[in-house]
Amino acid sequence: MQEFGENIQQAHDEKLGRHLVASISIEPGDTILEERPLLVAPHWECHQLKCAQCLQESYVICRRCQVFPLCMDCSQHDEFECEFFASGAGKALCKDILVKNFGICGLLKLLLLLENPNTQADCQMLIGVPINLGDYRDGEGMWQEHEELVVRPLMECGLVDCLPTQQLTSDVLHAHCIRIDSNSFEVTAKDGDTLKGVFVWGATLPHHCVPNTVVALDEQFNMKLYAAVPLQPGDIIYNSYTNPLMGTSQRQHQLRLSRRLECTCTRCLDPTEMGTHMSSLKCKECGGFSVCEIDSNGKLGDWRCPDCKALLTAAEVHELQAEVGSALVDAMGDLQVYEALLTQYGPLLHPNHFMLLDIKQNIASILRAAALMNSMDQPCKKLLARRVELCSDLLPVCRAVVPGISKLYAIGLFEYLLALVELVELQFAESDLNKKEYVAHLKTASLVATEAMDLLRFEPENSAEGYLADRISMELERIESDLKKYGR
Ligand SMILES: [Zn+2]
Ligand SMILES: [Zn+2]
Ligand SMILES: [Zn+2]
Ligand SMILES: [Zn+2]
Repeated sequence: MQEFGENIQQAHDEKLGRHLVASISIEPGDTILEERPLLVAPHWECHQLKCAQCLQESYVICRRCQVFPLCMDCSQHDEFECEFFASGAGKALCKDILVKNFGICGLLKLLLLLENPNTQADCQMLIGVPINLGDYRDGEGMWQEHEELVVRPLMECGLVDCLPTQQLTSDVLHAHCIRIDSNSFEVTAKDGDTLKGVFVWGATLPHHCVPNTVVALDEQFNMKLYAAVPLQPGDIIYNSYTNPLMGTSQRQHQLRLSRRLECTCTRCLDPTEMGTHMSSLKCKECGGFSVCEIDSNGKLGDWRCPDCKALLTAAEVHELQAEVGSALVDAMGDLQVYEALLTQYGPLLHPNHFMLLDIKQNIASILRAAALMNSMDQPCKKLLARRVELCSDLLPVCRAVVPGISKLYAIGLFEYLLALVELVELQFAESDLNKKEYVAHLKTASLVATEAMDLLRFEPENSAEGYLADRISMELERIESDLKKYGR
């Protein structure tokens, strides 16, 4: 069982179940929890064999058990799971169960953890939480996928008979699949592929759309949870399971689908979404902004203008959102189409509306890719300036929706930094900027880089964010040396 530090303690209540609360005052950046994963598994639909030990691509099978894949770097995997097929209860099973149905890998690993006396207790915390299968059986999405890729192949391969004490039925297996899905964090293997990591204590963190912690995951799949904002004794430790750049209706839809959760957090109950107006529309009558009316249970109603009281029905708003949504899909990465969408829908929505932000992010990333490949036609200063503008539009929203230490904001700052430096270097080279103006821009860039690095300083070195911090630090060195050269 994982131990946690003395700054948090366990709590239990009806609504949240088992969870963690601060036991003393905690500073931003302070570590709250460090945990090794109970289980790291490929996605159900993964067909590429992955090493049972390090989860990188694999083309050979463990010579001892002849069931689990291994890679060239790993000579063995978990002793219990290897032994189970080498000479234990699973010895007589067909050796190609994973080769034929790699989708079962994650669940197979969980079943063996449940069978292993040393890991049973850790698993109990996870599987002790009841799942109402009726909520999932006929719903959208996951049930059918679980049935075809995992449950049926597992029921048919004979494994169930080798694990009699677990009394496995197809319903039990479905519940396990749902637990793995709804409790997993996205972790990244060394080869860059994403995987599902399940953490026993991590799984107990309740959701809040404005989390008070940051989850850091390193290349060995270890989790470190640290405080994003100051915490007081008794504060519940929250994590977020949605994308903060989604609007309330989108986040709630996603939470319903993935976790059967009706969120009533402060952001979900706030029609302005922390002052960002990410779901607000332009009022057709007075030019102000219509906000969604939300009841105390978080149920979204119609949109109303607080100034002139004009009404926009929920149906009208949903229709508009669906229209923009499908136009976004149809845009298929075409820069001109995205710009035309901004021109068309910009006047109907608040400038921070989540769909405009989505379009802007799309444009910014196309422009970034074009800059990387040097494929921009001349004159590109105009496009670089556009990228700077889009990146800076996103910053205040990122800042507002994830307060405190925020990876999202750090990444936003980094994108802005790259765009800005590229633009001003070119402008200076082509004499559009004089030395004094160039130096002023470099000073701004230096402040942006410093702020971004500051936000990433609690991330592990061997993580994607750790590498990003190195990249920003190199950029900062370059900026500082230019500042020295051209005078401060
Ligand atoms: Zn390996
Ligand atoms: Zn083996
Ligand atoms: Zn919420
Ligand atoms: Zn109005």
